[in-house]
Amino acid sequence: MPTAAGHKTTLNSALAAKAAASLALLRQAVDAYGRVVYASSLGAEAMVLTDLIWMHVPGIDIVSIDTGRLPEETLTLLERLERRYQRRIKLYYPDAQAVQSYVREHGINGFYNGLGERISCCQIRKVEPFIRAVAGYGAWVTGVRREQSEQRSAAQPIARDEQSRLPKISPLLDWTQADVWSYIRVHQLYYSPLHDRGYPSIGCAPCTRAIEPGQDHRAGRWWWENPDSRECGLHPRQLTRTTHAAP
Ligand code: SF4
Repeated sequence: MPTAAGHKTTLNSALAAKAAASLALLRQAVDAYGRVVYASSLGAEAMVLTDLIWMHVPGIDIVSIDTGRLPEETLTLLERLERRYQRRIKLYYPDAQAVQSYVREHGINGFYNGLGERISCCQIRKVEPFIRAVAGYGAWVTGVRREQSEQRSAAQPIARDEQSRLPKISPLLDWTQADVWSYIRVHQLYYSPLHDRGYPSIGCAPCTRAIEPGQDHRAGRWWWENPDSRECGLHPRQLTRTTHAAP
């Protein structure tokens, strides 16, 4: 397990300043809101935030949603993180009855049938467990970055999240993808092997695929849909009802 002092501080000065600003925001959130929770996606940004939090602001809890459809690589990564930091990521699960009803009505892969079915699956497997996971906290932390999408480019470091009715803290907003990977390499953090196979953004296995060079980094998420709809509901946006052909 690495130690804070053991981290080789070879981040370039600009990135070191961003890391310091991220930590300052996390500490500010704890001071302002008391109990704070980080909802980890277990993606590359999550490796940075997990390290920042567990090494420097350990009072922040880390939770994640096991949707039941995650890639095996994600679950293996989760277990490696827990061993490395000797901490537990609190997992939340979908309501079994809701999953059962959904599958009986729409089929095991019913999310391919249309936008409504896909959003309903995300609601059952992600959003509802997420609401339970952050309930009782004063604020929650997310790893979104401005450059990830047009919608996220306008995000604020502290914003009211209507879904959870809690302040949403975004410490990595100004980080670039290169910043994230520089931090991961310098600190020799674990990360999903899927990132090395063309998956910049990783979600559930049946709804995520590798992208081609030059494609938008979220192009592999719900790739059969109109790009405007490609959010899971945790970071909602205005949806259009047009979809592309399902696979
Ligand atoms: S990403 Fe796909 S499998 Fe996962 S909850 Fe959403 S629709 Fe369901």
